[in-house]
Amino acid sequence: MDCFSLTQLLPHLRMATFSAVCVYCGSRPGSRPAYADAVQRTARVLVRQGITVVYGGASVGTMGQLADAALDAGGRVVGVIPEQLVEKEVAHPGLTASHTVDSMHARKALMSEQADAFIALPGGLGTLEELFEMWTWSQLGIHRKPIGLLNVDGYYDRLIDFLDHAVEEGFVRPAHRAHVFVGSDPETLVRTLRAEVLPQRTP
Ligand code: AMP
Repeated sequence: MDCFSLTQLLPHLRMATFSAVCVYCGSRPGSRPAYADAVQRTARVLVRQGITVVYGGASVGTMGQLADAALDAGGRVVGVIPEQLVEKEVAHPGLTASHTVDSMHARKALMSEQADAFIALPGGLGTLEELFEMWTWSQLGIHRKPIGLLNVDGYYDRLIDFLDHAVEEGFVRPAHRAHVFVGSDPETLVRTLRAEVLPQRTP
């Protein structure tokens, strides 16, 4: 076994930080109160742990509910919104920091850069797209940040079944399927993600 001294290793390691989580959720509120409840509980769990919430910068749907709940709890909320959605998704006026970017791609890249982990809550096509992009980036080794899926009242049951089916059919490696942690309780899910944030080797 190779032996390395601490001074040899130190330049290649940076401390594991868990100070910002990117939350993906809907531009619509969903049809049941359980969704607002879950998004607000997630916001409060993050704020209680001193974690900055990074999200899409809107004031509509569960995105707006997330930001309002985190701000009400005294937390830091960073929004990233593309120019063309500032009006449509009503950019939130009260955030700790707001970034207006020029494309959807720039939005996803900046949200990803600013976060130490990702959580997808119930949402629509945009939420799924964001979740799957971070998942495929993780599969490709572009980042090594943990991803959580909050399965509120079974909202994602059929998606999870399908992904297990994709593994059984040989299209998704079990190791890549395991990059996403599924939970129904925000506090437990955040604890799982925190435990997964490992010291990362610098390139
Ligand atoms: P939805 O889950 O469809 O309500 O959308 C949630 C958020 O994802 C909204 O802020 C959308 O603007 C955003 N979104 C939708 N499509 C994309 C995309 N291709 N890239 C980045 N964000 C997207």
